[in-house]
Amino acid sequence: MSEINFDPIVLTQSLVKCSSVTPKDEGALKVVESHLKAIGFDCYPLTFSGNGSYEVKNLFATIGNNGKHFAYAGHTDVVPVGNENSWKFPPFSATIEDGRLYGRGSEDMKSSVACFISATKRYIDEYNEIPGKISLIITGDEERDSVNGTPKILEWASKNNYKFDHCLVGEPTSKNEVGDKVKIGRRGSISFFFQVKGIQGHTANSHLAENSAHHLVSLLNSILEKPLDEGNENFLPSSVQIATIDIGNTVQNVIPELSKATVNIRFNDMHSSDSLIQWVNDKIEKIFAKLENASCTYTYDANADSFLNKPGLLYDVISKSISEITGKNSNPEKATDGGTSDARYIKNYCEVIELGLRNHTLHKVDEFAYTEDIIKLEKIYFQILQNYFK
Ligand SMILES: [Zn+2]
Repeated sequence: MSEINFDPIVLTQSLVKCSSVTPKDEGALKVVESHLKAIGFDCYPLTFSGNGSYEVKNLFATIGNNGKHFAYAGHTDVVPVGNENSWKFPPFSATIEDGRLYGRGSEDMKSSVACFISATKRYIDEYNEIPGKISLIITGDEERDSVNGTPKILEWASKNNYKFDHCLVGEPTSKNEVGDKVKIGRRGSISFFFQVKGIQGHTANSHLAENSAHHLVSLLNSILEKPLDEGNENFLPSSVQIATIDIGNTVQNVIPELSKATVNIRFNDMHSSDSLIQWVNDKIEKIFAKLENASCTYTYDANADSFLNKPGLLYDVISKSISEITGKNSNPEKATDGGTSDARYIKNYCEVIELGLRNHTLHKVDEFAYTEDIIKLEKIYFQILQNYFK
């Protein structure tokens, strides 16, 4: 068990040293809990399981009284290290060299969790009392299924009458310097797994067979024919990508019976999972309705719908706090790009904005965070608490 130390860099190191590759925890949540308890938080470790996914440890912690309720959401799980031999330092050693703190999870997003805990500690030390409530929603499953993590913590909180007014998610959102970019929404994601069935035969006797690959190619062509949209003021254009095409034919003289493909779509708020399923159905209908000897079936995995939060009070507080710390007057960019995050669940409960470190090495070999960025992020989080409860 690591010592209690609220220095955001030391605390980040304590967290990085726990090899919490989803769904393993390896003590990471205990580090969070012991620090929050030391400040006076009520801590509720929450283990959830079921719904076709593995068991996950999570933590909900809360402090304060009636008044505005500020929530911070983050995760302590990390993605696998990949080839460990390619790392400059062991990925869970949290080694600091030349102002960089190396380790899996250093950028995504243990440093942010550490910064928020440090900022809260400083805020409570300075003001003694919170004119409202601060809660932390910390999951051990953001990087994989996200089934027994944030969505279930939120349900649990709601059942126990915790209502959040605003939520800050600490994912790494910044670009060139800390605070130059926040996220106010995200694109949605859906994958389609197509399987086309024809009739197997000799390539020399094509009239006796039906080539599944040809019809799959037609389908994929029609899907890629023209862009789904041109984007809008808040979102980039939706993106349709073939992830894989699998026929698995090992010889040249057999017409394949089965051909498969996976297509992933990252879509903006001009579409929904339902509208895209309909769009795919229409494409399939057009190509296969007239074919007697070939058919297409598919399954899909709708990971997330897109969402957009109209910037409100939280954006104003965050924007003001960033400029007070960085001395820059320009408002942070309001972005909706990148992958999904647990903000997609929180948006159903309150205004949510994501703000964290620079996004540059996450999920890579030699992931690191600049120690000066960690210090700056802690200051910004402190300023946000100060301005929010003013
Ligand atoms: Zn993350």
